Amino acid sequence: MKARHPDAILLFRMGDFYETFDEDARIVARDMEIVLTQRDMGGGEIVPLAGIPYHALDGYLAKLIRKGHRVAICEQTSEPDGRKLVDRDIVRVVSPGTVIEPGLLEAGANNYLAAVALGDARAGIAYVDVTTGEFGATEVALADAPQELARLAPAEVLVAEAAGEGPAAGLFPAEAGITVTTRAPSAFGQAPARRRLLDHFGAASLESFGIEGRPLAAAAAGAIVDYLGETHQASLAQLRGLRAYSTTGFMVLDAQTRRNLELFEGGRWGSREQSLLAVLDLTETPMGARLLRRWLGQPLLDLGGLRERHEAVGWLHEGGVRRQRLQDALKAVADVERALHRIGAGVAIPREVVALRRSLEQVPALAELVGEPGGPPSLAAGLAPCEGVVSLIAGAIEDEPQGDVGGGRVVRAGFSGELDELRSASQDARSYIAGLERRERERTGIANLKVGYNKVFGYYLEVTNPHLARVPEEYVRRQTLTNAERYYTPELKEYESRVLNAGERMEELEGALYREVCGQIAASAAEVMATAGALATLDVLVALAEAAVRYGYVRPELEDGPALEISGGRHPVVERFLPSGSFVPNDTVLSTDDEQLVILTGPNMAGKSTYLRQVALIALMAQVGSFVPADSARVGLVDRIFTRVGIQDDLAAGQSTFMVEMVETAAILHQATRRSLVILDEIGRGTSTYDGLSIAQAVAEHLHNDPHLGCRTLFATHYHELTQLANRLPRVRNYNVVVAEEGGDVVFLHRIAPGGADRSYGVYVAQLAGLPRPVIQRARDLLASHEAEPKAGGGRRGLKKRRLPGGPVQADLGLFAAAAENPAALEELRSLDLDALTPIEALVKLAELQRQARGE
Ligand code: ATP
Repeated sequence: MKARHPDAILLFRMGDFYETFDEDARIVARDMEIVLTQRDMGGGEIVPLAGIPYHALDGYLAKLIRKGHRVAICEQTSEPDGRKLVDRDIVRVVSPGTVIEPGLLEAGANNYLAAVALGDARAGIAYVDVTTGEFGATEVALADAPQELARLAPAEVLVAEAAGEGPAAGLFPAEAGITVTTRAPSAFGQAPARRRLLDHFGAASLESFGIEGRPLAAAAAGAIVDYLGETHQASLAQLRGLRAYSTTGFMVLDAQTRRNLELFEGGRWGSREQSLLAVLDLTETPMGARLLRRWLGQPLLDLGGLRERHEAVGWLHEGGVRRQRLQDALKAVADVERALHRIGAGVAIPREVVALRRSLEQVPALAELVGEPGGPPSLAAGLAPCEGVVSLIAGAIEDEPQGDVGGGRVVRAGFSGELDELRSASQDARSYIAGLERRERERTGIANLKVGYNKVFGYYLEVTNPHLARVPEEYVRRQTLTNAERYYTPELKEYESRVLNAGERMEELEGALYREVCGQIAASAAEVMATAGALATLDVLVALAEAAVRYGYVRPELEDGPALEISGGRHPVVERFLPSGSFVPNDTVLSTDDEQLVILTGPNMAGKSTYLRQVALIALMAQVGSFVPADSARVGLVDRIFTRVGIQDDLAAGQSTFMVEMVETAAILHQATRRSLVILDEIGRGTSTYDGLSIAQAVAEHLHNDPHLGCRTLFATHYHELTQLANRLPRVRNYNVVVAEEGGDVVFLHRIAPGGADRSYGVYVAQLAGLPRPVIQRARDLLASHEAEPKAGGGRRGLKKRRLPGGPVQADLGLFAAAAENPAALEELRSLDLDALTPIEALVKLAELQRQARGE
């Protein structure tokens, strides 16, 4: 068994335990904090052993998977008969992409298993959510593969063995936390993949799935089928269709843009509450929550589809009572997709089956509400009531099923005559035995005679020692206790066997009936899934309408034009975290034809970053189908949003801060189109002033002049020199964030106004941040003397040639004190041209100076 899955921890079922052996046992004992024992295998061989109780499997599985392990579960597949070894087989290999345990899954997010098949210039990407049966495949240019994978954010991805060092290497950044599972290259073979898909779907051609002629997409999908075939047959059986999709119909958002716009996680610590998703997620069902997440990650480029969504949100926005009714009905809807999958896989508990019925029972009321005039037409059509499934469950399963399947309290009375008979036989025998105590007490005169039951001896009559003399002759001794004797009678034995027989048969029969009902539900899966999809869509649309009402959003005007005009725009997340009414709305006018590139200057802390992101978020929300936080908005479709924001290290990937900044900038300049929206928040801050300023200027000029670009761009910067570009380049405009100075204090007005700023108030912000007073005072003095000096040659050029202002240094650092004793080092320090040094050179210099100062 182990040899079949050498890379997985093997959980080997032995009676009530899953045992692990050898190295697996050591790992499990260490990671699960359980005792490592030993087992004598005979012939003097002793192996390490660690076991977990079978009923606690889910909890341990969760921990093992979270620790990054794969787990192969080997079950007993025949009944133990005491003579020969029971048969065993591996029924499932659990990995992050194939978990189905509710405890391991997040209700509001999909759990994807993806596969990537690489070609020379293109890549095939397939993904599946085994808990819902969603299965999709696409083909993209190799360069676009990272974006698509970032969008899917799979828990696990399959790649061909050698791909690790090949072009796949850059696809999965370590911090994305994706488990990469390598498979034999043959798993990605195009011909076998095709055959596997055809076999699986019982189809003669892949045409109906839309992937005929897209061999890489088929190869990736085939690799998934191959993998599930090996790891979990039951999940594979749930895949009923494959959807080929194209990424060209959607707005492209790369990984850093998703992060920078704080779509799913935000704030300094990546909290979920401070994200766009958290603000908009007023959905009532887990299916709706998952769909909203997908919509946010994949805004549309299709005007028709968007108008439909906006129409629906508008209609739901208007009718408050209707919306409330829809929400009430949706509250009673459970996770139909996952319940259906678990029913199909044979692991659903009776309560989930009942929850499915209760969910579907809401459908007619929902359909009636959306069927009213003006309601979203496609939705009403999609909400099929699935009456067959509802009445099947209603007739077969108790409303409040009790205990395990087989205990006789799951299948409803009246569903099976045979089961009803067994139940009453068992019940009669039980009540006969219950009445026996009274009857025997009367007959024998033993007042404390008791009827009892235990697992080993079955039913018995118990008489305490003082009364033994009165025990009738026909009582047969069964067990002796210190103060009592236990007996049975032929009569008791007979009824006991009736109870036991009925119990056993009931267990079998109820189990079989339950499985049959589940099988019939699974046979209607396609219909139920379609309804589940319509429920999810409705839930999202209602949530978007609710958000629009609650937060005062308006319907944006969408067009296929060059403009992006917003009046009174707000940041949807920041405004929620500020006291009500204190967020200052701002206008935006951008157009590829006219006001194409806005240079935004202004003090630190004034609200530049907030403004930049708010513009991008409004465009994104509009293309998701949501209303937007503004007084009005006109959005010419945006095909991609690019962001380059702040300073981030990617040390894990071996890239310096500045390198990351430049790589991201390069990507923007290469990939942006005329229809893109580019958000640049500080370019060139990670290097020396002159390098940085030069790069920033060149980038701005390129975005303006390159005939393939000319895209709508917001460029926030502290290089106030860039405001001069507006004099030379016709489509550049200057804006600044206004501050007022009152009695030496700076008041942030958060208002964007035309014109450039010439000050950053950085020292003031440093003071707000609590830097020590002497440091602030010293900085003020230095700033004043910089500003007083005449600028030789204008601008910062003067700074380069000039020495740092002197004056008494406030607090000498140890290094400089040491350097003072070493005049050569001090002189060298004085003559350094800091502006011309890169950070690395500065460090090298510093180390050298330190050596000199120490006299080494
Ligand atoms: P820096 O140049 O230092 O990066 P910034 O100009 O980008 O600063 P932001 O980070 O956007 O400034 O904003 C600073 C804070 O100001 C925000 O956290 C927010 O609380 C507040 N703020 C920003 N915009 C507004 C607004 N329009 N109305 C009210 N408060 C705002």
